[in-house]
Amino acid sequence: MVNMEKELMYNDEVKGVPEFSLAGSIQEGIKIEIDKAEVYRHLGYGREQDPRAGILSIVDDQVCKAYEFINPAAYYTINPITSVGSPEVSVGELHFTSHNLAQVFSGCSQAAIFVVTIGKALEMEVDQLTKEGSILSALVLDTVGSVAVEKVADELESMFRDFAAAKGGKISWRYSPGYCDWDIAQQKELFRGLDGNPIGVNLTDACSMKPRKSISGIIGGGEFCSVFSACRSCNRKNCPNRREEFLAND
Ligand code: SF4
Repeated sequence: MVNMEKELMYNDEVKGVPEFSLAGSIQEGIKIEIDKAEVYRHLGYGREQDPRAGILSIVDDQVCKAYEFINPAAYYTINPITSVGSPEVSVGELHFTSHNLAQVFSGCSQAAIFVVTIGKALEMEVDQLTKEGSILSALVLDTVGSVAVEKVADELESMFRDFAAAKGGKISWRYSPGYCDWDIAQQKELFRGLDGNPIGVNLTDACSMKPRKSISGIIGGGEFCSVFSACRSCNRKNCPNRREEFLAND
């Protein structure tokens, strides 16, 4: 569950719009549970496939250990969506280019720009295990970190969904630069909307994040927000990020 340090408030004048106050935009003390089934999936095991006993035991150990090294935090800003063309989307002073984002944001009136992280302690432990030659444990712990940071992003998304629902509104799918047709280079523009985020996530010149186990992105919200998933009409059938089945046009 997200432990909200400060209370978020709505603008009661605007039905269905999750008009949060910007006060309280840092979330710390977020509690997550790591789902071992997700760890197996990230390690390449199918849903019906049982990992062998040795792997089960390493996953058990590394999941247990990971809780010592995970320090989840999230930061977000709420911004008005000022125009949606295709592929140009303007969110406050920020300008993004993506056909998929434009489709996803149709009907949304606001957007949360966010970054979440589990901090850098886990990746330092992964480096240490690698130096010691415990390569399999390092790989599994790194994978557990990936599952953990996804879970932090899920918790934040769920918080936005609850706030929107309480006002009769909806939220869009969550999108990150580098997904679909959204260029990873637009991380720079996204980070411009994060006010030099106070939770210590930095961008490298290549637009990856440090700590590595961080996720940045955007979620639209509003009374008429579309819950459209671009995956339904996207013909990249083997995309590893696919969230819905492809529906072929008749
Ligand atoms: S399948 Fe979905 S996640 Fe993958 S590129 Fe297409 S729209 Fe994006």
